[in-house]
Amino acid sequence: MALKNAYLKGVYEQLSAKSAHEPEFLQAVLEVLESLEPVVERRPELEKLGIIERLVEPERIIQFRVPWVDDSGKVQVNRGYRIEFNSAIGPYKGGLRLHPSVNLSILKFLGFEQVLKNSLTTLPMGGGKGGSDFDPKGKSDAEVMRFCQSFMTELCRHIGQFTDVPAGDIGVGGREIGYLFGQYKRIRNEFTGVLTGKGLTYGGSLTRTEATGYGVCYFTKEMLAAKGESFQDKRVVISGSGNVAIYANQKATQLGGKVVAMSDSNGYIVDEAGIDFKVIKEIKEVKRDRIKTYLNYVPSAKYVEGCKGIWSVKCDVALPCATQNELDEEGAKALVANGCIAVAEGANMPSTPEAVAVFQAAGILFAPAKAANAGGVAVSGLEMSQNSLRLSWSFEEVDERLHNIMVNIYNAAASAAKEYGMEGNLVAGANIAGFLKVADAMIAQGIV
Ligand code: NDP
Repeated sequence: MALKNAYLKGVYEQLSAKSAHEPEFLQAVLEVLESLEPVVERRPELEKLGIIERLVEPERIIQFRVPWVDDSGKVQVNRGYRIEFNSAIGPYKGGLRLHPSVNLSILKFLGFEQVLKNSLTTLPMGGGKGGSDFDPKGKSDAEVMRFCQSFMTELCRHIGQFTDVPAGDIGVGGREIGYLFGQYKRIRNEFTGVLTGKGLTYGGSLTRTEATGYGVCYFTKEMLAAKGESFQDKRVVISGSGNVAIYANQKATQLGGKVVAMSDSNGYIVDEAGIDFKVIKEIKEVKRDRIKTYLNYVPSAKYVEGCKGIWSVKCDVALPCATQNELDEEGAKALVANGCIAVAEGANMPSTPEAVAVFQAAGILFAPAKAANAGGVAVSGLEMSQNSLRLSWSFEEVDERLHNIMVNIYNAAASAAKEYGMEGNLVAGANIAGFLKVADAMIAQGIV
């Protein structure tokens, strides 16, 4: 453990003893505590008030049974969760993930990071996360609907527009949000903005679908500009081919870059002519098919089985947009060796701590997820505003607000890093800038 400050070290040791079986959560906490060392040294009242102990402990964890009937008539049972992590600056806010790997460790890491990310957006949103080990892959629409209805039947008593506002994440897109919203409305008999990522016909916001991917590119653009660089003529590698990856491709291309590789959990494609995001959208959003079918559309492209090798594809900018810990030390070394100048995290915690150390030692630009992928939740916050106002803003208006928010997040992270003596370290800067607002709100609200 690299922590030197006695208070932070003590908190982390206690947490490790209590959460030894939650490695992803501990990984996320350690990274933040390392960044906060200069802050707690400057502000001793944080220790007296137990702010860090309170920050790492979720306000509430809800776990429940989700029974549903499959197409053959057999009853299936999954595990559902909602972690209401911190409500100091607003209602709990964060996505729902449907994936077989979902467990408490993963949701606690995501919920913890969400608290600081939401703070960075400057919008009034606390942090939460939820989901289930249900796997939507290979299920019929009717099965997905029955699962979502059962999940919401329990979840609906814990959430609400002023309490907790879930959204999508891995495995939860427009289809799932629609089924979840329908069931909430039916049980509670109210039409409110209880979920974000809704369809445009029932309260959704324009630009929400594109927001995370666009936001990653807006952030990367600022980071490159600070070094006199841009996306123009850069080779870009994007892992994943889901919601974040598809729109990161579109925006990186619009900004002058060429996306040469993308992946799914089976393998990756390389297209030296540049991957057209519309083809990936067709494969993934419409056909819900595998990325290797890209070769049916572009026979000159190449498909490689296994997803890790994507980091050996030569590029200037790498955008990991698939899942946690997908980019390890070996991948990071390959990127650096091939001349990569910038890495921006579209997924949550996609780089292992060893990979981040490689990027920092090499002095390349590195944008952490909390800052770089905050565009999704930022537009979710704007969706909540529009629902409250009973108004819909145009695509251009929301996109402009998103762009401004991402520029502000970059500036906040860069200046916090500088103020605390770690200029250029956006990991530390984002953690500090996000933390300070939450900590001050917690102090103001007393011991709760
Ligand atoms: P999706 O479910 O839409 O897509 C996930 C993509 O990642 C799929 O293409 C999936 O492939 C692929 N994938 C999963 N595991 C791996 C792996 N080990 N290697 C390569 N590819 C893999 O999810 P999202 O795009 O919404 O989310 C992606 C990441 O971004 C997550 O970390 C999420 O928490 C984060 N995020 C998402 C936001 C959003 O607005 N959607 C907001 C902020 C963060 P396959 O189809 O084979 O499973």
